[in-house]
Amino acid sequence: MAKKPKLTPEQKEAQEFMEKIVSLCKRKGFVFQASEIYGGMANTYDYGPLGVELLRNVREAWWKRTVIARENVVGLDSAIIQNPKVWETSGHVGGFSDPMKDCKECKARHRADHLEADVCPICGGELTEAREFNLMFQTNVGALEGSSSVAYLRPETAQGIFLNYLNVQNSARLKPPFGIAQVGKSFRNEITPGNFVFRTREFEQAEMEFFCPPDEEAKWYEYWKQERFNWYVELGVDPDKLRMRDHAADELAHYSTACADVEYLYPFGWGELEGIACRTDFDLKRHSEASNAKLMYFDPQTKEKYTPYVIEPAGGINRMALTFLIDAYEEEQLEKDTRIVLKFHPEIAPVTCAVFPLVKKNGMPEKAHEVESLLRTTGWNTFYDQKGAIGRRYRRQDEDGTPFCITIDGDTLENNQVTVRHRDSMEQETVEIAHLIGYIANAIQNWKRS
Ligand code: ATP
Repeated sequence: MAKKPKLTPEQKEAQEFMEKIVSLCKRKGFVFQASEIYGGMANTYDYGPLGVELLRNVREAWWKRTVIARENVVGLDSAIIQNPKVWETSGHVGGFSDPMKDCKECKARHRADHLEADVCPICGGELTEAREFNLMFQTNVGALEGSSSVAYLRPETAQGIFLNYLNVQNSARLKPPFGIAQVGKSFRNEITPGNFVFRTREFEQAEMEFFCPPDEEAKWYEYWKQERFNWYVELGVDPDKLRMRDHAADELAHYSTACADVEYLYPFGWGELEGIACRTDFDLKRHSEASNAKLMYFDPQTKEKYTPYVIEPAGGINRMALTFLIDAYEEEQLEKDTRIVLKFHPEIAPVTCAVFPLVKKNGMPEKAHEVESLLRTTGWNTFYDQKGAIGRRYRRQDEDGTPFCITIDGDTLENNQVTVRHRDSMEQETVEIAHLIGYIANAIQNWKRS
């Protein structure tokens, strides 16, 4: 057996950091190995109570910013399994593949374009020549198995949008420039090691196809690049760990005029967080030719008819969630110990408020439950905890990334005031229960990463 290549100190540090993240995710209920009791399943994960809330908040933040905040972007939820002709036309059946190399020693399979050297990164063994490997999952529909029943799980949500271009444009009476957004699961038979949930076989995509007059392509491309980059910064991601990388001409798909990735500096190096692509009129034209549908825009005023050009921001909700989590992770050296804290933006923190009675007696739990119920009416995820010393309860919430802890003590019963403890600064303030919701809403709105 060939020798495993030695890790550099930086690689070792990155590996240790990722191990910390994976273990925190399991311990606190963000992410679990899928099928764990059966020994797991490669590149496949399940999300626990905190993980689903994080995903939900990231998805909602994306949707609010992309759809709700705009008059010219609408939503869609298209089917995962479409007519197989869709994937022939889009080019996925023929060309959605990665070049793979196999290790002749340990038989592991690697993506040729991700290898740093021409030896197996697991055991150092010799590799085969690169071969193309299609990433689409095949299945069969109906009662009979055979070539006529072959169908595919979608490898991207974008095609469902192109298929519904006319339905949406007509029903919502839209005129370019306008966008159609979709969030949903996509499936790719990824075989390379995934760096935890960075690359998985099933994942949630958040994509938007923005249809514009051809001569406005460059303007909207710049707009969406800026817009998508800013979204991450506004949600608290360290701008020093973000960059916009324009693709070189030889990286572009043949139909694409420009493409850029928002990249994040992960512990394992710079990686794509989201792509923004100019897809020209390629997809609409291809589907028009193959289906005979006229996927065009007819301007009733000018009587002009054209196929819109498309700008596509495409990200992954799971990759975004992982990025927010890695970026939020801090170990703070305090006087006596180290505090682990996830400094999430309060809008995406899985739990917004935790409510504690100082002690489990003298009417404090009852009052604390009253405050908890009040906070739940806002839609903020709220957690009640009366177990253990107050300091330990704070620390547990720090690790969950809960921005506000509200404590009810003996005085609360007399004066209806509670103590709000802020996660990042650990500062405490006294607030009237009657003003609590407004106080927290204001703190969420004005939150800045410290
Ligand atoms: P890569 O080169 O990393 O395989 P890609 O360029 O093929 O990714 P796109 O097809 O542009 O990715 O997908 C858009 C977004 O979907 C990516 O930026 C990423 O956030 C997310 N994504 C793609 N593949 C995966 C995956 N296997 N697991 C998790 N997220 C993914």
